[in-house]
Amino acid sequence: MATSEVPVIWVQGAACSGCSVTVLNSVHPSIQNILLDEVVPGKHINLRFHATVMAGQGAPVIEILRTAPKEMPKGYVLVVEGAIPTAEGGLYCAVGEDGHRHIPFAEHVENLAKSALAVIGLGDCGSYGGIPSCKPNPTGAMGCVDFFAAKKIQTPLINITGCPPNPDWFVGTIAHILLFGLPGPSALDDLGRPKAFYGKLIHDNCPRRAFFDAGIFAKKPGEEGCLYERGCKGPLTYADCSDRQWNNGTNWCIRAGAPCIGCAEPRFFDRFAPIYEKTDTGRLAGFKVQ
Ligand code: SF4
Ligand code: SF4
Repeated sequence: MATSEVPVIWVQGAACSGCSVTVLNSVHPSIQNILLDEVVPGKHINLRFHATVMAGQGAPVIEILRTAPKEMPKGYVLVVEGAIPTAEGGLYCAVGEDGHRHIPFAEHVENLAKSALAVIGLGDCGSYGGIPSCKPNPTGAMGCVDFFAAKKIQTPLINITGCPPNPDWFVGTIAHILLFGLPGPSALDDLGRPKAFYGKLIHDNCPRRAFFDAGIFAKKPGEEGCLYERGCKGPLTYADCSDRQWNNGTNWCIRAGAPCIGCAEPRFFDRFAPIYEKTDTGRLAGFKVQ
């Protein structure tokens, strides 16, 4: 069977590169398998641009970003890692130059997103703005959800939240696209996240839940007991961390004695700060998510 290639363009804006690191840490499949082999039978990812891992540099690789809509008329998947600064014409984050003009990251995202088959808003920053968009947000940073609304971009958007996301959440989503095409609305929650990974409330699947129900609360991190009074955001956070765990299934936040800080929820960190204080449910109830 001939192998068909799916071009992927991965751009990084106001980000720490943690989302790239998390995917590079994927174990099954490994990053070598993802980039060199068929992720699913007959389908291979052709990563055309990724500033951290590609060998190329300079003007020729910036040209890939500028010409992709014309050069790849059958489309590509665009991955947006990091928030999109929009203040001052987007000049707080520029990728490459056009003559002597810095090209704003926002301009790349707008051009590329309009011609993409689908866009993945990766991490809290790429999807909902994350830490770069926290108050007072002097750069006007926003994630794809708000940017697409402002620019009236209609391309299907899948959000893989998390700070960073679990590598399985990204790799599993890519595998789904290759196998079955874009996930339909019934496969996504109302925040645009795949239900397969974000369908469960941490609090309902927590090994410390019996302590919560019995009113036994840890006085400090690492103690036996529920971590709610230590700031745990598990009652407000949807993700499968308790089942999937991290570092190839080695452990996860709550099992390691640390409260869930709600990193898989939109508007992290502003929404949950101060993260190590007992959740003020009244304040959270009034927090606008979308
Ligand atoms: S540790 Fe967190 S998620 Fe687990 S039962 Fe307590 S509040 Fe819920
Ligand atoms: S348990 Fe909470 S803080 Fe930890 S990775 Fe999962 S969503 Fe993020």
